[in-house]
Amino acid sequence: RILLEESTSTTTTKNNGRVPGGVRGKRKRIVVTGGAGFVGSHLVDRLIERGDSVIVLDNMFTGRKDNLLHHLGNPNFELIRHDVVEPILLEVDQIYHLACPASPVHYKYNPTNVMGTLNMLGLAKRIGARFLLTSTSEVYGDPLQHPQAETYWGHVNPIGVRSCYDEGKRTAETLAMDYHRGAGIEVRIARIFNTYGPRMCLDDGRVVSNFVAQALRKEPLTVYGDGKQTRSFQYVSDLVEGLMRLMEGEHIGPFNLGNPGEFTMLELAQVVQETIDPNAKIEFRPNTEDDPHKRKPDISKAKELLGWQPNVSLREGLPRMVADFRQRLFGDSKGSGN
Ligand code: NAD
Ligand code: UDP
Ligand code: UDP
Repeated sequence: RILLEESTSTTTTKNNGRVPGGVRGKRKRIVVTGGAGFVGSHLVDRLIERGDSVIVLDNMFTGRKDNLLHHLGNPNFELIRHDVVEPILLEVDQIYHLACPASPVHYKYNPTNVMGTLNMLGLAKRIGARFLLTSTSEVYGDPLQHPQAETYWGHVNPIGVRSCYDEGKRTAETLAMDYHRGAGIEVRIARIFNTYGPRMCLDDGRVVSNFVAQALRKEPLTVYGDGKQTRSFQYVSDLVEGLMRLMEGEHIGPFNLGNPGEFTMLELAQVVQETIDPNAKIEFRPNTEDDPHKRKPDISKAKELLGWQPNVSLREGLPRMVADFRQRLFGDSKGSGN
């Protein structure tokens, strides 16, 4: 829980004598866009716990009020139903910009990445707030470099079914850097790798939530393609710690935030079987178009400059998510939202 103060960097910000991102020691006013979602709601918990004043902007596309119910009534918390594609006027010190339809089944419907990011950067510019973008490992596309370091420029299909997400996030990064260079906005860029944990949408189509819900419902685990493609899975509390260190530190990034432990989808299915039901069946389905063959973060930069690395392995994190899913699916009191 220590927030790092960085003094040396190759990519430091100019702050014109102003204390970056708010006044130290004073309660910060923070906007979290997408704060009713999976990652956002865990971030809000940490910020409120730290004593900050938090405004969540969320259009509830995939977010749920349930994720934030425990903060309603707290004078330091405000939930505004708002689509970030539309402009908004607020006065805050920091903006964590997470709003985005983040699962393949959702993201093709929405210009949030470009229009929403532009509006939040416009807001940051008007009020001099620090702005953090949650970008994605998808900016590397189907990578030709493995593991992926931040210096890799990626291998992305500009017109494919995933393009509005990966190209959208690439554009969002470009906008953030242009506002930084052109208007002096203090920006921070995180490239998040596959993350899982309690409060994930039950049916948003992502692989960990699919497998866990399927095993609990006694349905076969759907492995797409031959199941030999890889991903690296990060537990949500590790990500939130990384995002907060990045926001409070002096480095712009981009920073990979992910767990380097790499699994094939068949190995993931096996861990889910071990955790929930050794008799769960596996069913193969055709894979989706442009599916990246492998993905694993090189996190040397975050280790060195943010003093950050993930602590929770897949085998430790998965049972915590399973408890939450069990509770939401069956009302079992063993579940927890933390
Ligand atoms: P999520 O779907 O749970 O959360 C996204 C939130 O944004 C939801 O609450 C949704 O209602 C809200 N939202 C969507 N469009 C909006 C709009 N136009 N205006 C206002 N709110 C809007 O997803 P998540 O996993 O929590 O993702 C959070 C962020 O992290 C996203 O930007 C995503 O791209 C990024 N990310 C997540 C992962 C991951 O594995 N979870 C990986 C890489 C990047
Ligand atoms: N914007 C916003 N809130 C603000 C300031 C700006 O939502 O407090 C939006 C604004 O409507 C615009 C976008 O952010 O669509 C970019 O703003 P900027 O001032 O950079 O660009 P301009 O309006 O000059 O084109
Ligand atoms: N996948 C799978 N079964 C599912 C859902 C996804 O095998 O039920 C695969 C998918 O083809 C991809 C990997 O799991 O190779 C990760 O998919 P996800 O949508 O979770 O994340 P992303 O592709 O964005 O990394």
